[in-house]
Amino acid sequence: MTEVLRHDVVIVGGGAAGLRAAIAAVEADPGISVALVSKVYPMRSHTVSAEGGAAAVARDDDSFEMHGYDTVKGSDFLGDQDVIQYFVEQAPPELTRLEHWGCPWSRNADGTVATRAFGGMTTKRTWYAADKVGFHMLHTLFQHSMRFDRIVRYDEQFVTKLLVEDGAVRGVAALDIRQGEVRAILGRAVILATGGAGKCFPFTTNGNIKTGDGMALAYREGVALKDMEFVQYHPTGLPGTGILITEATRGEGGRLFNARGERFLETKPEYGVGSKLELGPRDMISRAIFQEIRAGNGIQGTFGEYVHLDLTHLGRELLEKRLPFVLELARTYAGVDPVTQPIPIRPVVHYMMGGVDTDIDGATELAGLYAVGECAAHSMNGANRLGSNSLTECLVFGARAGRHAVGHAKDSGDGSEDPLRRQVEEEAARIDGLRGRAKGSEKLTQVRDEMTQAMESGCGVYREQASMRSATETLAQLRRRCADVALEDRSRVFNTEIVAALELVNMIDVAETVAVAALQRRESRGAHACSEFPGRNDREFLHHSLVYYEPAGPRFDKKDVALGRWEPEERKY
Ligand SMILES: Cc1cc2nc3c(=O)[nH]c(=O)nc-3n(C[C@H](O)[C@H](O)[C@H](O)COP(=O)(O)OP(=O)(O)OC[C@H]3O[C@@H](n4cnc5c(N)ncnc54)[C@H](O)[C@@H]3O)c2cc1C
Repeated sequence: MTEVLRHDVVIVGGGAAGLRAAIAAVEADPGISVALVSKVYPMRSHTVSAEGGAAAVARDDDSFEMHGYDTVKGSDFLGDQDVIQYFVEQAPPELTRLEHWGCPWSRNADGTVATRAFGGMTTKRTWYAADKVGFHMLHTLFQHSMRFDRIVRYDEQFVTKLLVEDGAVRGVAALDIRQGEVRAILGRAVILATGGAGKCFPFTTNGNIKTGDGMALAYREGVALKDMEFVQYHPTGLPGTGILITEATRGEGGRLFNARGERFLETKPEYGVGSKLELGPRDMISRAIFQEIRAGNGIQGTFGEYVHLDLTHLGRELLEKRLPFVLELARTYAGVDPVTQPIPIRPVVHYMMGGVDTDIDGATELAGLYAVGECAAHSMNGANRLGSNSLTECLVFGARAGRHAVGHAKDSGDGSEDPLRRQVEEEAARIDGLRGRAKGSEKLTQVRDEMTQAMESGCGVYREQASMRSATETLAQLRRRCADVALEDRSRVFNTEIVAALELVNMIDVAETVAVAALQRRESRGAHACSEFPGRNDREFLHHSLVYYEPAGPRFDKKDVALGRWEPEERKY
């Protein structure tokens, strides 16, 4: 007999966005009960690994106007300006609230909150707690969430399906990874906060759990994924592992050099970063490094070519105080000591600008379904996110979606349980069928490798029409091959092979939307650099892209950008 659990609001994801939404929901109504479902223990969510900081206006020389303009320009004018306006205004109270809950922001000598420079921001507005910001933020949110016994946690439960009945979402089907049962967790509103999908690519800063699950869940229920072609490459990852060396290194004054010892962002104005140099936006700096390597100015290493990030002029004292984690990472994983040696770095897949199409409240076109954090596209980041905007985004829109989901849950009825129970029974049978499906002829790791390779060659830093088209074809084939993957583990307890198989299908769905959307955008904007169409083309492409799931293959559509305050102009720094 299928176990059915009932709450008012179900939140999928225990990272910054999910936890903030949960707290906002229970604070909005003392009677509300929230299920917080997460495939890992919440403190293991990817938020924990964020290093550099969270953006919000804090200084006298800053303003909402400046933060808003920087974000719109960073987005290459594809960010929705009403959403950005709300974001910049809510950012300072959200970060202050986090301090009241215990987040130890670093301070200036006079006791005010310390802020550091970040790429594409005109002044220092990135709040930090040394270079372990994600750890401190997530810890604060997690601890604070424990004050509310109405937030009921379901850890290590993998959501495999949204339960939809009569045109509205009614809950989720969740596989208990610890025991192998599939349960119904019902709620009158569901908030997806499942994070990004960097693992669709072979070389990424993202943890293994970032497989785009929430995006795929919404997509398969007919909700559009928006602006998926915009995949952010972070300029500074360690070769081999892809471990992130935070942008705070450049915020504190780090410089980039090629094999000839040339500070190429300074000597080559064609890279477009102007006087910002290393503090230019991520898309432009990643392209510059890529071009240096292509031009033969890279340094050859065991894991391919790279360039140097030099911090040696900053001195031991500053590095130990402000960037202790970077010292540890570089010493442990690159075998260099940044106090005296440059760090080898190369661009690496980092963040999805696109995600589940939502409005400013986080609401999707499916009644009762909300999305927040990296899995959502409220249209704040457009074609390129500015570093340190994303952690704040999780708080600002997590809180807003939490409150709105409560409003929706209070206004909706429970509906009948039987059809939902049947959906979960079918889901349980499907997953049971995967367990030990040894007769398949495909290997999971092989299909996964072919997917990540197709994404790198089709949807990398620079994209070409032919390689994008070939990626869409490969992905369509891989989706079919996925159905024939052999699975050997028959156990019910911690069957990680089944989880990996479910994640693979999710990644292929998400990857396909990236490739399809990229192929449609015949221009270059933000993170989407198309070799055949090197310029931005506002006349034809100043719109969001939408990809819908259809059994026969993805369907493409578009949506207007909310302009108003700032007119699109050439993006120069
Ligand atoms: C190394 C690194 C450093 C970064 N540094 C910064 C920074 O300094 N500043 C900044 O602004 N941004 C930074 N970012 C980006 C930022 O950290 C993320 O975008 C943000 O933390 C995402 O939070 P989230 O809550 O949306 O998702 P996550 O923190 O990724 O959490 C996702 C949650 O969803 C759950 N989940 C996923 N799928 C399922 C499923 N099927 N069933 C059940 N649960 C599921 C997971 O268990 C997890 O709890 C960084 C990112 C990385 C990778």
